[in-house]
Amino acid sequence: MNQKNKTIETLRTEIDQADRAVIEALAKRENLVAQIAESKHESAPQIRDELRETAVLQHLTELAGDLGLDTYFVGKLYRDIMNHSVRIQEERFRDRVPPEQAGALRIGYQGTEGAYSSLAAKQHFGSLGKALQLRGYETFADMMAAVRDGALDYGMLPVENTTAGSINEAYDLLAQMDVKVVGEEIFKVEHCLVALEEVHVSQIRRVLSHPQALLQCSRFLSGLENCQVESYVDTAMAVQKVREERNLSQAAVASEEAARHFGLYVIQRDIANQRDNYTRFVVVAKQVEAVDARVACKTSIIFAVRDEKGALLSALNVLAAHGLNLTKLESRPRPNVPWHYLFYVDFQGNLANDGVAQALRELAGLTEYLKVLGAYPERTGGGNQVGAEIAPSPLIPLPRGEREISAETIKLLEKKAYRLASRATRVEDTLIQVQHVVIGGDRPVIMAGPCSVESREQVMAVAKKVKECGADILRGGVFKPRTSPYDFQGLGYEGLDLLYEAGRQYGMPIITEVMHPNDVKRVAEKADIIQIGARNMQNFSLLKELGTIDRPVMLKRGLMSTIDEWLNAAEYILAHGNQRVILCERGIRTFETATRSTLDLSAVPVLKERTHLPVIVDPSHAAGTWQYISPLAEAALAVGAHGIIVEVHPEPKKALSDGPQALKFDTFAALMSRLRR
Ligand code: PEP
Ligand code: MN
Repeated sequence: MNQKNKTIETLRTEIDQADRAVIEALAKRENLVAQIAESKHESAPQIRDELRETAVLQHLTELAGDLGLDTYFVGKLYRDIMNHSVRIQEERFRDRVPPEQAGALRIGYQGTEGAYSSLAAKQHFGSLGKALQLRGYETFADMMAAVRDGALDYGMLPVENTTAGSINEAYDLLAQMDVKVVGEEIFKVEHCLVALEEVHVSQIRRVLSHPQALLQCSRFLSGLENCQVESYVDTAMAVQKVREERNLSQAAVASEEAARHFGLYVIQRDIANQRDNYTRFVVVAKQVEAVDARVACKTSIIFAVRDEKGALLSALNVLAAHGLNLTKLESRPRPNVPWHYLFYVDFQGNLANDGVAQALRELAGLTEYLKVLGAYPERTGGGNQVGAEIAPSPLIPLPRGEREISAETIKLLEKKAYRLASRATRVEDTLIQVQHVVIGGDRPVIMAGPCSVESREQVMAVAKKVKECGADILRGGVFKPRTSPYDFQGLGYEGLDLLYEAGRQYGMPIITEVMHPNDVKRVAEKADIIQIGARNMQNFSLLKELGTIDRPVMLKRGLMSTIDEWLNAAEYILAHGNQRVILCERGIRTFETATRSTLDLSAVPVLKERTHLPVIVDPSHAAGTWQYISPLAEAALAVGAHGIIVEVHPEPKKALSDGPQALKFDTFAALMSRLRR
């Protein structure tokens, strides 16, 4: 063995030791978590403590930073560890019906090993610390019958997918079969194109997969030339078939795990139409399983209403009257009764709760048929939420107090031309949710990023930094409204792809400007929020087009526009159908030249009186110089803005646009820690 190899050997031994220490530390942590669960069992009012979770994440990422680790990576890792801990604790708060039985838990799913349902089963039952015996069934009905007849302890039944929608057959089986729902699982589906060898995608002539998977990847598949797409029993079996046929021009749509299981290659990743593609499963069992009232639960029911006016509404009103939040409503044809329907309802609530029991009693009296499927720990809210794997910005909610609006003000507002934007029409603040971020609520939202997306390195570096500092949303211009035609005009769609990639990499929604109506729909496919620049505030064709998309729009104030002109511009978007408009004060033109524009902070309280729409402040374009940005940002939050948007650049001196007003990384970090205080 030569000297170099020896060194590597020694280092590897040390890595093995370090890994062992990590695993031992995890085991120790899990043990402590179990002890906490015991003590919570006696005393705690609920098991999930979000404040404590956020504080722990904050502390750990700081510690990681001090040790020179990637704080983003550590945050993400710990979110997973903590979600797992919560699951372990929840287990202590429920009565599993197959109690401490000796053998392995028998769990069924439709498909073969490597199919998404089998992966979801492992994810769901993994935290039980028990041996699992997974069994694949050819059909959902076979699997459900095995649960009903006691051949299985549990079954994984997929009920809906965020791209393809509800799985009708699964809903029908829930009504027909005598089984209960005892759990739910959310599984992130990452479809890949899988082939025998590492061939180029253009060589593929035939693609096989489960029809649902084909549907979810329809856009990618329709782009393949001379290629036939065929339905197959399940995704993993399609991989198996490709392996058996030994034909290099064939491929399957399946998970990476399925490819690995059968020894095949992933030739293209991420081929689903929508970037966030999740399937929701319900876990079925023969009997209901009680869950402690302190665990956040969902309850699932099926009912049929009487053939009377307003029957569905009165049924749903019962839930509302008991303060139960409805999370899903589905209807299916009622067997043997044409033009009548079965309604499937999920709501947040636990059967162990008095309110829920009472609501169900009342509901029974109002319906012709009611079946309670069961209550189970919910996996779609809180820390389980899509995108919530990273600690949120640590800004504390602002004390807002009760805002009252006088009858007199309402009278004045009723005279304004804008209706939908007006507080006279809608009193409550409008909340706009993008991924896991809520704009317009009590917690101020921070949007940060470069003026222009310049390169992959630049946007990735900025995204990483601003995320680490606690930013919520990533900004970046790709279509730039420049005063001179000789200045950098932006990278266009290429830049949008880079911004999108950075947003996904660091778990932030993205915002970018659109200047031309023809670009609105295409940009909206990737951008979470569309920005309209000051120069386009009254571009009415653009505003009308924005009214037709299902994406929030941030409308910046025109350089020479009054507040009411601005609200009328917003009204254009609202009047054409899109109610998610955010206003952004970015400074107006006055006689003053010491700053680029004059930031009109008085617009914030005025807007908050006249409109229910969220208000963001952009101190960067108003100041034009980085030195003034921090005080203006602090002032913006002090006057009640719902958030700020600021420009950040790794090297402002080299920026292709707006360099003088860009914050360097350390200045942005300092601003964030001041805002935190
Ligand atoms: C921008 O945000 O990049 C921008 C061009 O801003 P404004 O439209 O406010 O000038
Ligand atoms: Mn700019």
